[in-house]
Amino acid sequence: MSEEVQAIEATPLTRGIPVLPDVRMHLHTPASPGVGVIVSNERCTASAKAAAFVRHIVIDMSRTALAGSFVSGQSFGVLPPGIDAKGRPHQLRLYSIASPTRGEDGQGLHLATTVKRTIEELPDTHRLYLGVASNYLCDLQPGDEIKVTGPNGKRFVLPVDHGAHDYLFMATGTGIAPFRGMVLDLLAQDSPSRITLVMGSPYASDLIYHHEFLALQERHPRFRYLPAISRERQADASPPMYVHDHLVRSRDLLIPMLESERTLIYVCGIAGMELGLLQKLARCLPPSALEQYLTADAQTLGEVDTWTRRMLHKQVKPTRRVFLEVY
Ligand SMILES: Cc1cc2nc3c(=O)[nH]c(=O)nc-3n(C[C@H](O)[C@H](O)[C@H](O)COP(=O)(O)OP(=O)(O)OC[C@H]3O[C@@H](n4cnc5c(N)ncnc54)[C@H](O)[C@@H]3O)c2cc1C
Repeated sequence: MSEEVQAIEATPLTRGIPVLPDVRMHLHTPASPGVGVIVSNERCTASAKAAAFVRHIVIDMSRTALAGSFVSGQSFGVLPPGIDAKGRPHQLRLYSIASPTRGEDGQGLHLATTVKRTIEELPDTHRLYLGVASNYLCDLQPGDEIKVTGPNGKRFVLPVDHGAHDYLFMATGTGIAPFRGMVLDLLAQDSPSRITLVMGSPYASDLIYHHEFLALQERHPRFRYLPAISRERQADASPPMYVHDHLVRSRDLLIPMLESERTLIYVCGIAGMELGLLQKLARCLPPSALEQYLTADAQTLGEVDTWTRRMLHKQVKPTRRVFLEVY
């Protein structure tokens, strides 16, 4: 086979596929955790009257192996003190790193995360249930020590060559955490990359890091920030919408972006949001653009309304240009 033919055949397989960096992982495990120290712990919703309690928590990792060894998009583990109902030590919970790779301090020593308090009224007993790790974290005060593990995750990270791609980030709730770090990483570089962040929230008061993203958008024309409010009207009085509805609402921005061979899609947040997005992509994109993000046979593509989460990665396969982290 001639070199020319090989090149033509290779193109569709490699087109736009990002090369991911080798990242460090599991430097601390539950058996040998590191000890971080709380630097600050502040509310990070748009309004103090938000329905949810969400806090931006900065941890000094200087005394741990995570210092200088994490990248934006990774997560880390927290070991809450105490024992569970069965008398065993509480299990580790994962939290996304909300900092850029250089950390909050510019040296990769101070790592931030974004924690939402889990608060529920239990259906059977109507008693209040407070999530173990999230409330432990949100209660911590500056100077308190905390047992940590990680870093975790090698797939939900930015590619090696940041400037080779454009980025569509879609978040709901605390799924915004990794995107704060990634956006700050990307904007710190002088690159041509266009970045669009779609942030979903039930109420405008609950938008996380809202004022920070507005300020970044003001300073960087290549960064667009698009909130999507699902239980009340938008700031311009248009009807409630979900993140994926921006494919219609902001089609002039997003469709050309998605047709480009440069674009990568990252999705983080509430499990289930990825299905709505993939369905919307299938409805809104022409086949030549759609195949960049998902593959499915003709019959499946003809029955988009019937897709379920169980079909993902089987009948409906996101490509390597789609990054999913839902929990
Ligand atoms: C990769 C990854 C990244 C994540 N990133 C973040 C992040 O950045 N920010 C964030 O806030 N979260 C994040 N999470 C979720 C986080 O790990 C925790 O799951 C979340 O904070 C809840 O933990 P918790 O200990 O507070 O709640 P838990 O105590 O674990 O409770 C969780 C749920 O289990 C049920 N439950 C547990 N015990 C009982 C009981 N005894 N009785 C009745 N019901 C019970 C309740 O329904 C409750 O809502 C992430 C998860 C993953 C996998």
